[in-house]
Amino acid sequence: MLNKVVFVDRDGVINKKAAEHDYIKNWQEFRFLPDVAKAIKLLNQSGFIVIIVSNQRGIARGIMTENDLKDIHQKMCCKLKQESAIITDIFVCPHNNNECKCRKPQTGLFLQAEIKYPVNKKQSFMVGDSTTDIEAGKNYGIKTIAVGERGLGADYQCSNLLEAAKYITGVTE
Ligand SMILES: [Zn+2]
Repeated sequence: MLNKVVFVDRDGVINKKAAEHDYIKNWQEFRFLPDVAKAIKLLNQSGFIVIIVSNQRGIARGIMTENDLKDIHQKMCCKLKQESAIITDIFVCPHNNNECKCRKPQTGLFLQAEIKYPVNKKQSFMVGDSTTDIEAGKNYGIKTIAVGERGLGADYQCSNLLEAAKYITGVTE
């Protein structure tokens, strides 16, 4: 069975971005953006699975470890689950530039995901706040949504994840 998937970038969509050239290195530095749980819950209720695809070069740079990241993601998913918002899986590129096939805007993270969760591409989306996210979604062949003040050449632009979820599900308030 094919899944309707909303692929979501993490930093800048789920949580506040770190300062330029810095990374979210531990749970203390992690801050949810508003209405993220509500957005994910809405997507879940409409039959979408939500998968995070995230570049985390801080690992290649030795600024944090894979375990630091796992700890953040475990706590993040736990908090969301308390609000009935389910992240089905998280795929991370821990590499530096030009050393892999998974760093967005390449499609490796999506290809890893579709092995576990076959994707109905016609009904799937990539939501992100950077050009690399939108390019990655286009390269993979799904619809793209830019979150934030810039359109980034995406199919649709909105101000936050909840707006994106409403657009995707056709729900309006
Ligand atoms: Zn990679």
